[in-house]
Amino acid sequence: MDEIRPFTIESFYSFVTEKKLMGAKCNNCGRTSLPPRPMCTACRSTDLAWQELPKQGTLLTYTVIHVAPDRFSDSTPYAVGIVEMKENARLPGAIRSIDPKDLKIGMQLTVAFDQEMVVEKWPQWPRYYFKP
Ligand SMILES: [Zn+2]
Repeated sequence: MDEIRPFTIESFYSFVTEKKLMGAKCNNCGRTSLPPRPMCTACRSTDLAWQELPKQGTLLTYTVIHVAPDRFSDSTPYAVGIVEMKENARLPGAIRSIDPKDLKIGMQLTVAFDQEMVVEKWPQWPRYYFKP
């Protein structure tokens, strides 16, 4: 990867289309920002580098959606949560492949990527989700 993409949420999603989870690692203090920001949230340095993150994380908190917007209404109830990835990076997302009743704070989840990255729907962002 030679090209340097700007440290923005748009770049984050463009990496997701490549099935990569990328954060912005600060070369000054070592903190990783996810979603990436153009400036380190800890020390305000702009000396950043892209870093691919492991796809496992710990469920920090979640909520179960029973009444969803129309296009998601077929999948209710479903859970959305915040997963703590390595190095304090926190990522929100839907949780699938598990009954919401079986979710537990602190359980390990893995990031997976939607297969149907429908090109016709561009510029709708491609999606990732969590699963046990
Ligand atoms: Zn920093």
